Amino acid sequence: MSTAPVGSSASGEALAQAISGNIATICSRIAKAARAARRDPAEIRLIAVSKAQPADRIQAALAAGQRLFGENRVQEAQARWPELRASYPDLDIHLIGPLQTNKAKEAVALFDAIQTVDRPKLAQALAAEMEKTGRHLPCYVQVNTGEEEQKAGALPDEADGFIAECRALGLDIVGLMCIPPVEEEPGLHFALLREIARRNGVEHLSMGMSADYEAAIPFGATEVRVGTAIFGDRGDWKQLVGR
Ligand SMILES: *Cc1c(COP(=O)(O)O)cnc(C)c1O
Repeated sequence: MSTAPVGSSASGEALAQAISGNIATICSRIAKAARAARRDPAEIRLIAVSKAQPADRIQAALAAGQRLFGENRVQEAQARWPELRASYPDLDIHLIGPLQTNKAKEAVALFDAIQTVDRPKLAQALAAEMEKTGRHLPCYVQVNTGEEEQKAGALPDEADGFIAECRALGLDIVGLMCIPPVEEEPGLHFALLREIARRNGVEHLSMGMSADYEAAIPFGATEVRVGTAIFGDRGDWKQLVGR
């Protein structure tokens, strides 16, 4: 059972149905993968990745009861979520994209968790801002498990030291996050992330996306970050919904 393509000439009603159906399908696949791995399905949370998705799709996910979302960019999240929080006070919005040090202040004000702590300068800026505002957000260290040049994240060899450094600064490191290289077997990367978490006493593992969220579950994923399988393609949504 795969999720439904979202969009084409979709009316509001059809859109709402497609998106709530996709969320239900994904949740049942998560539950199935959890049971197969002898895990409690309640340990695994679905993060709906709403980056570059139009407002009506986000509304459809909200109507379906989804409250946990992932955003990649501070500016885009800023434009969308403060207003929605008025109607949905229980929103849980995670930053899952790269963060510039000079946006730390905005990010701390805007998000409920930061999943992309990846270098000392940023850790320092976040710690200083949290100290100043008293808003102590749960943080995840992003690990560049594939050691890819173009990807953010602490290198696996440096992860233990970096996690310790973050904690010494006062950051609450609750989890690790990774984005495996597209061409590689993701299981190796999920296993590496799990091992780094285990030896550092880190509880949450944010890993698995539309293509591989089920594969991440036997390796201990506690958050899977799913975008296109819920909302449809990002790039051409303006065309899809006819604007
Ligand atoms: C875009 C994105 C996702 C979701 O990707 P899909 O393939 O659309 O599920 C997950 N994690 C991060 C960090 C992303 O940037």
